[in-house]
Amino acid sequence: MNELIILVLAIAGLLFVMRRESGAKATVALLVVVSIVGFIADAEVMGVLLLIGAAVTALAGIPGLRKAWLTPRIFAFFKKAAPKVSATERTALEAGTVGWDGELFTGRPQWKSLLASPLGELPPEEQAFIDNQCSVAASMCNAWDIAVERADLPPELWDYLKKERFFGMIIPKEYGGLGLSTRAQSLVLQKLSVNETLMTTVGVPNSLGPGELLLKYGTQEQKDHYLPRLADGRDIPCFGLTGPRAGSDATSLPDTGIVCKGEFEGKEVLGLRLNFEKRWITLAPIATVVGLAFRMFDPDGLLGEEKDLGITCALVPRNTKGMEIGRRHWPIGSPFLNGPIVGKDVFIPLDWIIGGPKMAGEGWRMLVECLSVGRSVTLPSGASGSGRYMLGMAGGFTRIRRQFNVPVAEMEGVQEPLARIAAKAYIAQASVIQTANMIDNGEKPAVPSAILKSQLTEFQRDMAMDAMDVHGGRTVTLGPRNYLGIGFSATAVSITVEGANILTRNLMIFGQGAIRCHPYVLEELAAKDDNDIEAFDRAFFAHARLIFGNFARAFTQAFGIGAGNLPFDHIAAPYAKAVTRFSAAFGLCADAAMASVGSDLKKRELLSARLGDVLSNLYMGSMVLKQWQESRAAMGETALFQYSMTLLLNRAEEALQEFLANLPNRPLAWALRLSVMPTGRHWKRPADVLTHEIARAISTDTPLRTKLTENTWNTAEPGQKNNPLARYNALLKDYPRAEKLYHTVNKAYAKGQLPADALHPEKRVIAAREADIINADDADFMATFEAEVLDMLTVDDFPFDGIAYDKDKVNWHGTQEKETGNKPTAQKSDGKSGKTAKA
Ligand SMILES: Cc1cc2nc3c(=O)[nH]c(=O)nc-3n(C[C@H](O)[C@H](O)[C@H](O)COP(=O)(O)OP(=O)(O)OC[C@H]3O[C@@H](n4cnc5c(N)ncnc54)[C@H](O)[C@@H]3O)c2cc1C
Repeated sequence: MNELIILVLAIAGLLFVMRRESGAKATVALLVVVSIVGFIADAEVMGVLLLIGAAVTALAGIPGLRKAWLTPRIFAFFKKAAPKVSATERTALEAGTVGWDGELFTGRPQWKSLLASPLGELPPEEQAFIDNQCSVAASMCNAWDIAVERADLPPELWDYLKKERFFGMIIPKEYGGLGLSTRAQSLVLQKLSVNETLMTTVGVPNSLGPGELLLKYGTQEQKDHYLPRLADGRDIPCFGLTGPRAGSDATSLPDTGIVCKGEFEGKEVLGLRLNFEKRWITLAPIATVVGLAFRMFDPDGLLGEEKDLGITCALVPRNTKGMEIGRRHWPIGSPFLNGPIVGKDVFIPLDWIIGGPKMAGEGWRMLVECLSVGRSVTLPSGASGSGRYMLGMAGGFTRIRRQFNVPVAEMEGVQEPLARIAAKAYIAQASVIQTANMIDNGEKPAVPSAILKSQLTEFQRDMAMDAMDVHGGRTVTLGPRNYLGIGFSATAVSITVEGANILTRNLMIFGQGAIRCHPYVLEELAAKDDNDIEAFDRAFFAHARLIFGNFARAFTQAFGIGAGNLPFDHIAAPYAKAVTRFSAAFGLCADAAMASVGSDLKKRELLSARLGDVLSNLYMGSMVLKQWQESRAAMGETALFQYSMTLLLNRAEEALQEFLANLPNRPLAWALRLSVMPTGRHWKRPADVLTHEIARAISTDTPLRTKLTENTWNTAEPGQKNNPLARYNALLKDYPRAEKLYHTVNKAYAKGQLPADALHPEKRVIAAREADIINADDADFMATFEAEVLDMLTVDDFPFDGIAYDKDKVNWHGTQEKETGNKPTAQKSDGKSGKTAKA
C-alpha cells in the first residue's frame, strides 16, 4: 500500500514539474525527496526506483556530461533520421511569419498575446468606400446578365471599377491607389462577393500578381511606370504560372527564358527568348501586361558562370511579338475572364524581369513570400462574404416560404442547415477579419493562409449546398431570378485555385506547418545543416522539455486541472480551456508523429491532414474566441458562439481521434491516447436547442441577423427590385404583423367562417376582410405583403428554345410549333429588374 502511495505521489509531483517544464534540477530534487519519503515509509522498492530515476535525469541534465556523451549520439542519429529539406521547401519554410499558429504548437498558447491587438474601428474613409462605392458596384451587377447573356461584367461596371480604383486597393496612395488596410480590402471583397464574377475580377489583381510583386520587388522605374497605370485600370494585369504540365507542382514548369542577344527598339540588347504555354490565367483575355513565371537559363554564359538560374518572373506587355493571348476558358459557374497564353520565341530585354536582372532566379522566393498575404485575404473573404449573403437569403426565404401552414424555417429539419450556415459564416468572418488584422499589424501568416484558404472555401461550398437545399426548387431553377444557383456552381473554382484544397489540406498545413511553426524543429534542422552540435543540444533538450510538458499538460487538462485563469469571460472560458488543452495534445501528437513516422510523414498525407485539421480547427476557434472577447455580443449571439466553438472542438477532437486510430506505431498510439484522451471523447456535436435558437434568429428581423449581414449589400432604393437580400430584410421587418394575420385568417378558415374555396392566401385575406374578421388596413397590408412574397417565390420560365445554346439544334418535338404556330423567340433578361422579357 505504501509503495502505491509513493508511486502516486511521485507521478503527481512529476506531472507538476513537467507541466511547468521546470527542468532537470527540479525533477531530480523531487525524485530524491519522494524516494527519501519512500524509505521512511518502508516503501524501499519505490525508493530505489525513484533514486535510479533521479540519477538518470541528473545524467541527462548535467550539461557537461550531457554534451560529452549523450548529445553526440543523439545528433548522429538525428542526422541520419531527419528529413531532407529541398531548396523549394526551404524557400517555403523561410517565407512569411509565425504567430498564433506557432503558439498553438507550443501547447501553452499565450492568450494575452493574441488579445493584445484588438480590432479597432475602421478609418471613416475606408468605411465610406465600403458603404458607398461597394454598394454602387454591387448594384450594377445582374448575375444572369453577367453569367449567361454577356459572359462578362457590363462595360459601365468596368468603367466604374477603374474610375474608383478598385484595382488599386493594395497600391499605395502615392502611386494613385487606394492603399487600403488589409481589413478594409477583405470587407470590400466580402461585400462584392454578392456576385462571384465581380469578386474575382476585383480580387485577383489585388492578390498575388504583378501589383504586389512590383510593390515588393520592382525597380523604382518599374514602380513609377506600372503602379499608377495598374491603380486606375489603364493597365490590366494577369499572372501566368500554371501550364498544361505544371499545376500543383508549379516549380516543375517547363517554360523557358534563354539569355541571348536580340533587337529591342532598334538596338541590340541582352535579353531573354521566352517559350511558354500557360493556361487558366485569370484576366489574361484582356490583360495589357502579363506577369510571367519561367525557368531562366544562360547556356552561353552571357551573364556569368551559372547556366540554370531558376524560376524568374518578368512583366511582358500584351503586344509583345510572339505572344498569343485573348482566347477564353469558361470557369464553371462564373464567366470571369480567364484564358490561355502561349509565347513562341518572344524576346524581352532583361530589364523586364521584375526587380531587374539582379532578381533573375528569385521568382519562386518572390511568389512564395507574397502568397501568405493574398491567400489569407482574397478567397477567404469571398467565402466569408458569400456565406453571409447565403445566410441572409436562406434565412429570408425559409421564413416567407410556408408549407404545411407554417414557415419552413420553423421545421427542425430546415433549422439544422440554417444553423450550420450561420455558424460557418460566423467562423469564417472571425477567422478572415482577425487574420487580416494580424497582417495589418505586420504579420505575413504563412500557415494560417493555407488554413484559411482550404477550410473557408470548403465552408463556402458547404454553406452553398445547405442554402440550396433549404430553398428547394426555388434555386434549382436557373434564370434571372435565381440568386444562388450560379454562385453555387462557382464554388468549385475557389476550391481549386491558389493551391487546390486536397493538396493544401494534406501537404501544406501540417506538412509544412510542422517544421515552420514548431518552436524547435527548424532550429534542430538548421543545426544539422550547419553541423552545430551546441545549437542542436540547446534546441533538442528544450524540445524534450516541451514534449514532457505537453504530455503532462494534455493529461492533467483532460481532467480539467491546470489550464489556469484564462483572459475570457465565463461564457468563453470553457472553450478557451478546451483549445488550450487540445493545443497541448496536438503538440504532443505532432512530435510523436514526427518521431515515429520520420521523413515519411510528408508521404503519409492522411496522418498529416488530420493533424492539419486539429491545428486548423484550433486556429479558427481561437479567432472566434478573440472576436467574442473584444466585440459586443448581439442579442442571441451566445447561442451562435457556443454552437460555433462546439462545432470546431468536435471537429478537432474527431481529427485527433482518427489520427490516433491510424498512427502506424500502435503502442505509441495507445500511450498517446491514454495521455491526450484518458477519459474518451467529450465534444459532441452542437445541441439541438442551439440549432433552434440560431435558425429563428437568422430567419427573423433580429439584431443577430443584422450583425451577421453587416457590410453586405443590403440597401435598396424605393421600388428597386434587384437586391434580394434587401427585399428579404424588408419582408422580415413586416413578418411579425403578417404572422399574426396569417394566424387570424387561417383560424377563421379552419372554423368555416370563410368560403371553402378560399385556398390562396390572397383570396383568404379578401374573404376575411369581407367577413370583417380583419380591418381594411390589415387587408391592404397583407395584400402587399403577399404580392411581394409571391414575387420572391416566383421562378423564371423560358420560351421553348430559350435555353438552347445552338438554336439550330433545337428539337421542336412537333408539339411546340403546333401550339404556337411559330418559333418562340429567345428569352432575354431586361438586365435590371431580374424579370424576363422577350428579345
Ligand atoms: C478558374 C481558374 C483560374 C486560375 N487562375 C490562375 C491564374 O491566374 N494564374 C495561374 O498561374 N494559375 C491559375 N490557375 C491554376 C490553379 O492555380 C491550378 O488549377 C491549381 O494550382 C491546381 O492545379 P491543377 O488544376 O493542375 O491540379 P493538379 O495539379 O492536376 O491536381 C489534381 C488534384 O491532385 C491534387 N494534388 C496534387 N498534388 C498533390 C499532393 N502532393 N498531395 C495531395 N494532393 C495533390 C490536387 O489537390 C488536385 O485535387 C487557375 C485555375 C483555374 C481553374
